[in-house]
Amino acid sequence: MFDALTERLSKAFDSLTGRGILSEKDVDAALREIRVALLEADVALPVVKDFVTKVRERAIGEDVIKAVAPGQQVVKIVHDALVDLLGGPGEPEGLSLEGEPPVAILMAGLQGSGKTTTAAKLARRIQKTEKKKVLLASLDTRRPAAMEQLQQMAAQAEAGFLPIVPGQTAVEIARRAMNAGRLQGYDVVILDTAGRTSIDEELMAEAKAISDVARPRETLLVADALTGQDAVETARRFNERLPLTGLVLTRMDGDGRGGAALSMRHVTGLPVKFVGVSEKVDGLDVFDASRMAGRILG
Ligand code: GDP
Repeated sequence: MFDALTERLSKAFDSLTGRGILSEKDVDAALREIRVALLEADVALPVVKDFVTKVRERAIGEDVIKAVAPGQQVVKIVHDALVDLLGGPGEPEGLSLEGEPPVAILMAGLQGSGKTTTAAKLARRIQKTEKKKVLLASLDTRRPAAMEQLQQMAAQAEAGFLPIVPGQTAVEIARRAMNAGRLQGYDVVILDTAGRTSIDEELMAEAKAISDVARPRETLLVADALTGQDAVETARRFNERLPLTGLVLTRMDGDGRGGAALSMRHVTGLPVKFVGVSEKVDGLDVFDASRMAGRILG
């Protein structure tokens, strides 16, 4: 995902490392390179500006310029700023599933973002790592194929699946799923909302109504990391309407430029909780800001 960015950044650092003394001019020249590298990776402009300003403030300090290996210090400052941008150091946040069972997780996102696949991947992860029983329910009343897809993936994930009852509205299905979860002893109910090709008012109102019925502990927005700036704009719009608690970025195994992954947290203020790394039902990793920053810097 970050190959081109990694290469560009390493070139920018070449001019810094290995030098005994650094001037403000040297740092600024490197920062110009870093700025271009981030913009080429499709990172949102305000994010790039903030990032460069922050790194400059830290790097121009007397201590850095007079340090024994000042170039290395600047690289370390860029690394730390990247970790901050991606979500900060420390343990990944994970999911919050406390509360009276069944706890609901609501999945939202554009059609094709990987929402249904991610719902099944999450079910599998929660069952395996947290040893909780998960029920999957599709609320996509407009696309029977989406319901069937989730049913097939639920079987792969070895999770429960709420039977499809034709003619019910999404809100009715959400209510039935929560009841079934309660009666059948499920710990978690994952509700997969209708995919949409664009953000339209009717579907937004529907998602909000579902949210009011199921009162989810987690509302996760699934976004395709390959769509770059579009994914960031989508996240911003969803975040205005739904009480989102986190993001999942899919297709991190693809060869996109990585800008969305770098901008998302900053633009929405929401943590990236998971990343999709394959089409398979176990292709979901916990997002770890430090590890990701390390990967970007190579
Ligand atoms: P939805 O319309 O948002 O529910 O999207 P789907 O779950 O149907 O996913 C659309 C396509 O993307 C499917 O072919 C998935 O197998 C694929 N997909 C989803 N997540 C990932 C991922 O993390 N990596 C890769 N390579 N493919 C993914």
